[in-house]
Amino acid sequence: MISFDSNIAPGNDSFGLLGKSADELRDFIVSLGEPPYRAAQIYHALYAERLRTIDEISNLSLELRRRLGTVANLSLPEIARRHHSSDGTVRYVLGLTSAGRMDAATIETVFMPEEKRQTVCISTQAGCAVNCQFCLTATLGLVRNLSAAEIIGQVIVALEDNRAALKPQTNVVLMGQGEPLLNYDAVMTAVRILLDPKGLAISPKHVTLSTSGIIPGIEKLAREPVRPKLAISLNASNDEQRNAIMPINRKYPLKDLLDACRNYPLRPWEHLTFEYVLLGGYNDHPEDARQVAKLIANLRAKINLIPWNPGELPYHPPNAARVEAFRKILADKGYLVFVRYSRGQDVMAACGQLALLESSRIVPPQTLSSASR
Ligand code: SF4
Repeated sequence: MISFDSNIAPGNDSFGLLGKSADELRDFIVSLGEPPYRAAQIYHALYAERLRTIDEISNLSLELRRRLGTVANLSLPEIARRHHSSDGTVRYVLGLTSAGRMDAATIETVFMPEEKRQTVCISTQAGCAVNCQFCLTATLGLVRNLSAAEIIGQVIVALEDNRAALKPQTNVVLMGQGEPLLNYDAVMTAVRILLDPKGLAISPKHVTLSTSGIIPGIEKLAREPVRPKLAISLNASNDEQRNAIMPINRKYPLKDLLDACRNYPLRPWEHLTFEYVLLGGYNDHPEDARQVAKLIANLRAKINLIPWNPGELPYHPPNAARVEAFRKILADKGYLVFVRYSRGQDVMAACGQLALLESSRIVPPQTLSSASR
């Protein structure tokens, strides 16, 4: 935990500044008898400047910083391990040891540098209960939901750890461990801060939330005034096939899911993204592509085809000819189709690989601290 003064340890009930909205910070600051504009200064320091300790918020008086150090904390996820890929991707194993929390856990966050931008892939839960059969995270089960602080903290940690090489544009994808729409409130609190021009100030065009198809969550997201782009993890061309690899489909079958997609209010610049992991010999037949085209007919859709990453699970990568044939069938129907070869495969950072055994451990805080960096 990072605090203002190592000699003044905040108590377990100290107020966590990170992950708080402008309104929550204002209520807290006013409760201390301070003027509300102090909260705006803290909000700016946390998210626009990405300062990592209370001590660094130098436009607060020394006295206020000292006081905050005793009643509040600025606790970021700790980097337990970094795994560097040959393609520049960094997979972080982060320890979550927020002040006062007994349920410490580890999660994974991936930083992917490109020529003109960087993409940060963040987790929204430790583990996941959705049990998609092609996903290593599913083997962990759900450890727990992440807080808004733990979600936004991943972006701050990844950006600050790469500060010297940052490009002007940052993309954030909520595609790491967990089903974002099953941790709705914390996810949306974090997303609002990400998208707030006074917060992390990332464009809604550059933040994408991916769901396995939780229909009530999609309907709720549709009513949000501020929201990220939406991606649906489709991965099958019919219910029988999808039931077998995504058991959530039994609860929210394809027809209902696609109805929810048709009712989803896209902004003028927006496409709905469908992700489709191509499992060799399973869902990569030309007939599957034709069925997918029918499923998403009349939707303003973009399709990302993700050839399966070889791993510990009993599936096979598709061959290149099958991938191209699948792409062409959809492209000929007029859809935007991209083949996304996952990055960071050599450090298990690729799609569906975010689950080392270390992620499943409930790690006591003192163990994490000693393993840190
Ligand atoms: S693909 Fe996503 S929703 Fe499915 S088990 Fe993995 S983390 Fe959970």
